[in-house]
Amino acid sequence: MSAPKINTAQFLKDLADLRQIGLQPDGAVHRVAYSEADLAGRRWLNNRMRQLGLMPQEDAAGNTTAIYAGRQKLPAIGIGSHTDTVPYGGAYDGALGMIAALAVIEALQTANVRLNHPVELINFAAEEATMAGGTTGSQAMTGLFNLATLDKAAWDGQPVRTHMRNAGLDPDAINTAKRQVGDLAAFLELHIEQSDRLLTANRDIAIVDGFVGIRRYAVRFNGVANHAGTTPMNRREDALVMASPLIRIVRDLAVELGIVATIGDFNVYPGAPNVIPERVDLIIETRGLVSDVLDQAADLLQAEVVQLGGVMSPVVEKPPVKTAVAIQTALANACAQQGLSTLTMPSGAGHDAMNMSRLCSQGMFFVPSQGGISHSKEEYTTPADCINGAQVLLSTVLLLDNTLSVA
Ligand SMILES: [Zn+2]
Repeated sequence: MSAPKINTAQFLKDLADLRQIGLQPDGAVHRVAYSEADLAGRRWLNNRMRQLGLMPQEDAAGNTTAIYAGRQKLPAIGIGSHTDTVPYGGAYDGALGMIAALAVIEALQTANVRLNHPVELINFAAEEATMAGGTTGSQAMTGLFNLATLDKAAWDGQPVRTHMRNAGLDPDAINTAKRQVGDLAAFLELHIEQSDRLLTANRDIAIVDGFVGIRRYAVRFNGVANHAGTTPMNRREDALVMASPLIRIVRDLAVELGIVATIGDFNVYPGAPNVIPERVDLIIETRGLVSDVLDQAADLLQAEVVQLGGVMSPVVEKPPVKTAVAIQTALANACAQQGLSTLTMPSGAGHDAMNMSRLCSQGMFFVPSQGGISHSKEEYTTPADCINGAQVLLSTVLLLDNTLSVA
């Protein structure tokens, strides 16, 4: 028995092989959830799992799981990510974490090592927001999936349920994918960073301390529609002019509070070039890891909107989710073992690991994505960074196997 090691050549080959499935002539990877290409990608991965002696199983949401048995009767340490992509996406988002998880199993298998805990590979279904929202598979697994989503329009306008049926799934049974608290000892996910903080800071690995909370506020400004040619400038109540200072205010407030805030949805009515705007509806979105700061942002924004003559009401509030400190520590130790530099940062995007906090302690880490690009055919992570990710995943699993409470 030797120490388990990532077979880097095989790992990079697997990553390249998966990229071929759904590959477009221009280099984009198009494996949208529940499509033919997605199913082909999943079958390919299942086949690789079988080659390692695992028995992949599919649940009612289309998630695939496979267990590498442990020495003791304990809940499994889950590792994995997703193999679906956004329409015309890249080769690393999801794929890297999934293939790295596969490489971890291969390393254990080749070294003939059994851990105390079983290790469970999880290939989540429909992680990308193509099915009227994202993380469909992990929502179903954790009891968060709302059945009303089945009748909503997916990315191509067809209902979500049609896509699931085409993939051979029974949409109405999706919530039978729900698992129990205690099924898993932990869940750990490697992903590409969807930003460029690692590259800017010249660090190897980002340890995610949490997933930001998301708040959205609907803001309305009411003016008076009138003729754009005949109404003098001093006799106008132009809703757009009222709203316009807010755009800058939102940006400056975010910078000041250390959060991110965006107005990405902005509509002017009636929307005719010769009519003074009667109404402006817009959505402010704020994201941050600390609820108190988001509360503070809400109060300040509310005051500014009122000052400008508008009204603001909350429409979405998703609380921040912290990752487990024990897993952050294991990741930091694993990076130290590998001689890799680290940065701790929140994830600005939701991931399956975030939902998994409903079932077990969870953690997540990122490797650099060149140019901070994701959801694009330009997405690229160097082989060296991919390998670093797989090695940290393996080391962390080995550490967690010994530090997670052996009940
Ligand atoms: Zn992803």
